[in-house]
Amino acid sequence: MVDLGPPCGSVWVSRDGFSWVHGRITCGHPGRRPSTFAWWTASLSGVNPPLNVRTRPGLEERAACRVADALAAVRAEDLVAELRALLAVPSVTGSAAESEAQHHVERRLRAIGMDTDLWEIDVAATAADPQFPGMEADRDEAWGLVGAWGDGQGSTLVLNGHVDVVPPGGVGWTAEPWAGQVRDGRVWGRGACDMKAGLACQLLAVRALRDAGVRLRGRVLLQSVVGEEDGGLGTFATLRRGHRGDLAVICEPTRGQVVSATAGALTFRLVVPGRSVHASARLEGVDAVEKYVHVRAALRRLEERRNAAPHPLMAGYRLPYPISVGTLAAGNWASSVPDRVVAEGRLGVALGETVDDARGELERAVAAACADDPWLRSHPVTVQWWGGQFAPGQVEPDAGVTRLVAAAHARVHGAAPAVLGAPYGSDQRLLTGLAGVPTVLYGPGDVRQAHAPDESVPVGELVEVTRTLVQLIAAACGPGPA
Ligand SMILES: [Zn+2]
Repeated sequence: MVDLGPPCGSVWVSRDGFSWVHGRITCGHPGRRPSTFAWWTASLSGVNPPLNVRTRPGLEERAACRVADALAAVRAEDLVAELRALLAVPSVTGSAAESEAQHHVERRLRAIGMDTDLWEIDVAATAADPQFPGMEADRDEAWGLVGAWGDGQGSTLVLNGHVDVVPPGGVGWTAEPWAGQVRDGRVWGRGACDMKAGLACQLLAVRALRDAGVRLRGRVLLQSVVGEEDGGLGTFATLRRGHRGDLAVICEPTRGQVVSATAGALTFRLVVPGRSVHASARLEGVDAVEKYVHVRAALRRLEERRNAAPHPLMAGYRLPYPISVGTLAAGNWASSVPDRVVAEGRLGVALGETVDDARGELERAVAAACADDPWLRSHPVTVQWWGGQFAPGQVEPDAGVTRLVAAAHARVHGAAPAVLGAPYGSDQRLLTGLAGVPTVLYGPGDVRQAHAPDESVPVGELVEVTRTLVQLIAAACGPGPA
């Protein structure tokens, strides 16, 4: 028999209980224990054929060596080049470049040897689905894309990432948004952290494992999606097409922490009526802006109440569930009292709260504010729910996916990552809630850089997250026979 023996890596071969031989071999990776190869020892010992050889441990050792090769092959310059190519496509949510980005990623998936499914999403039919999560951008077309690798004999790990980005906006940039500038150890550009960096890590983790000759017993699905920023069209359509798995990681910017829960976010519109008159007779009219200010104060009080006792996973945030108005339009002439305010904003949904309950709270707060005001009592504010409707998403802190990602991170960093919640909506709620795929967020970059001018991501985090993904894929999908 062959016995792996103690961690020194010695191997013993015996033939029916006599003529014991032992030797050792190292795989060449500093810090790793020597690997053992049954065939090597057998040939050394002259036992031919070896009797009762247990080959499995040797194969696992060989697979571990290949994973170590993959880890060593993760290089910053490759990641920076991959990310810069992604940043060069200005894939603003709903723009034609969203489709261009999907075709770019499809070429990259094929280049690293994955099988791909690239399909045109029937936007109208998808939007008509009763469970459709909402959409804010007007789209003529949208594309779905999944790359697959592995034998499918074990677990299927989904790596999900969105190619769409929010518009760069005109102010505050010192870097060119689409140039992928590299300086101060960071890559700069719109989408650098949210979340083209995560996509680059996913691509190169798979490439490193494949190039190192690792074979998977299970399967990796790399889901590249559009429309995350405006509701989740891409992930929804991908799940509807049947691309699902046993566990999933979305590489949104978490600074290498494991996010096991995400708050929800509901887009709303308030229409506040007034009565227009000539500005010289202001007192004869009703100023819709003043009425809006009254309603806004009520929303601030509601926000305070909703954040009084947040879920423990959210305890680290000053304001886990904000209510924020992002666009405001009033009046139509400088010398007229404005007859209407249209305010569009976002309501944070608490962990464990239903979308209906959250909507009800806002609607009741607006109704109470209207009841307080003589004009609004007879001309009430209307509340509309439109665009992205993100329910909260959550897996248990000790879920298998959380433990696997944390363990992979610990193997790279030597310490366990923090596990926490995040105050923003994500596709987690679609994967976890709609498809039942336990999902966490884990990726490079800081969400505070997302949607902001001069968005950037540290190169060091790209390398660390990619190495964690290498470990995770190997652990979750199990190395197959080499
Ligand atoms: Zn994102």
